[in-house]
Amino acid sequence: LATAARLYTEEDPLVILSSSSLKPTVSNSTSAWMVQFFSSWCGHCIQYSSTWKSLARDVKDWQQALSVAVLDCAQEENFDVCKEYGIKFYPTFKYFHAHSPETDRGTIYRGADREIQSVRQLMVNILQNHTKLNWPDHCPPLKPYSSVELLPLLGQRSDHYTAIIIEEPDSFVGREVILDLLQFSGLEVKRALSSDLPLLDALKVSTFPSIYLLHPNATHSQLHVQKQLRFFFSSLLRTLPGVQRQLNSGSSSSGGLLGVLSDKQSSEPWRDFDRSKVYTADLESALHYLLRVELATHSYLEGEELKIFKDFVVLVAKLYPGGGSVVKLMETLSDWLLSMPLKRIPYQAVLDLVDNKMRISGVFLGAELHWVGCQGSRPGLRGYPCSLWTLFHVLTVQHDAKPTALENTGLERDAAPVLQVMRQYIRTFFGCEQCGRHFEEAAEESMNKVTNKEQQILWLWNQHNMVNYRLAGSLSDDPLFSKAPWPSPSLCSSCHEEKNGVHVWNQDNVLLFLQQHYGASNLSPKYSM
Ligand code: FAD
Repeated sequence: LATAARLYTEEDPLVILSSSSLKPTVSNSTSAWMVQFFSSWCGHCIQYSSTWKSLARDVKDWQQALSVAVLDCAQEENFDVCKEYGIKFYPTFKYFHAHSPETDRGTIYRGADREIQSVRQLMVNILQNHTKLNWPDHCPPLKPYSSVELLPLLGQRSDHYTAIIIEEPDSFVGREVILDLLQFSGLEVKRALSSDLPLLDALKVSTFPSIYLLHPNATHSQLHVQKQLRFFFSSLLRTLPGVQRQLNSGSSSSGGLLGVLSDKQSSEPWRDFDRSKVYTADLESALHYLLRVELATHSYLEGEELKIFKDFVVLVAKLYPGGGSVVKLMETLSDWLLSMPLKRIPYQAVLDLVDNKMRISGVFLGAELHWVGCQGSRPGLRGYPCSLWTLFHVLTVQHDAKPTALENTGLERDAAPVLQVMRQYIRTFFGCEQCGRHFEEAAEESMNKVTNKEQQILWLWNQHNMVNYRLAGSLSDDPLFSKAPWPSPSLCSSCHEEKNGVHVWNQDNVLLFLQQHYGASNLSPKYSM
């Protein structure tokens, strides 16, 4: 049963139920439930678990209307409850309507097709099959609106946007986008049908699905999206100015960061920036914080810690783009560290060197934190962790662009030196312990599969997205910079595709995008010291 327990973990975006929690969770609930009763010894259930997790992630934002759960019938404590709910085969899928009575044992889904798209569409149908009396509390209307209801809204001022998705009658996109936006405020999404001719006439819409937007200031227009796909519609609506995710205070995985990495970023004036650029001010601030704050909590560096610090300094000295003063400083630091016979160095000596070097030669590392692309909307959000990710993404791309840069450093022996140094740094020094643990787990699972520089870039991108998925809607999610799969369609539309109704990445195009985005020529010195 040890592996059984691990088929689904607390990290997965679903609820793990047990004998004691099943009934209290699914009966009298404000949301509907879709529960997979599985058995951890059933080979098919093991294979299917990755599909179920992907499905749960795909509909994570629908939770308040319909939640996804699992219950392991192979665990002894669950034997009785699985019998009570009539589970004879594994996996069995059962759904429970919102506000269902305690006597309800759920309805079995017998469909042969258990692919993500089919189950997701079943979920939409389950929601629509609620009546007025048991409608899930937070589920918006899913029925199509008519021109009679919609046309009077044109030209009206409002305190929010209204998006109208006009689609063929058998399309699910409208309802899926309505549910995708369920947790966002500042916007209402409605659907209408392509058979509503007066509406098509008034809005001049002729392709489906299309999206039409009524702005709060009473103007309205059809929205242009590069691809008529659910993911593109949802991403676009989520990034409208003023549309914000309502934070889910129940989500705790971010708690460790708050406070620990906060800084005085708030009192400074807002710096306008372009999301398609990378700012050297952020990279410099990352190094400033790392050297002067994070590492400075260590009185001495010795043994493994000293080695990790040296490796980090060498890596940055060799790969930091541009050859400017940051590189000179890191080179000086690395020469000094490598020439030191001491096995144990007081950290103050590092600080003195950094400060002296700066004073004497004008070699500069920003004397204060200066976030640009990593500005947060309030203190404690974004800032240092954002800049650290940015720094390591830049380093992976630089390593690919300058393949011989690490020669004779000892680091080049590893297939993925940037990831290895990052792993060691995060594990040993990064102030957010919980983040370090998560990162270490991911590294243990798949970092050794990285065999070349391009995979190194993609591994870090993918891992960062895993963290984004996990943290979306948590306390560390800045409402102005909602965590979402990255790059968004507006940054890279060719990175996104759909296969069997499910969003997929075009990894070749993602790689090209990352090489460009984090490449030396996309670095902006604006606001830099
Ligand atoms: P960030 O996620 O910090 O991203 C910074 C910038 O990188 C974005 O603005 C975007 O331009 C770009 N970006 C976004 N996604 C990608 C991608 N997939 N590939 C390339 N570029 C991308 N916080 C927790 O609460 N729990 C954790 O377990 C946790 N683990 C972490 C592990 C590491 C190694 C690090 C460095 C940080 C971790 N954090 C964790 C912090 C968290 O990931 C964010 O850094 C923090 O919440 C600030 O978020 P942000 O909105 O500034 O965006």
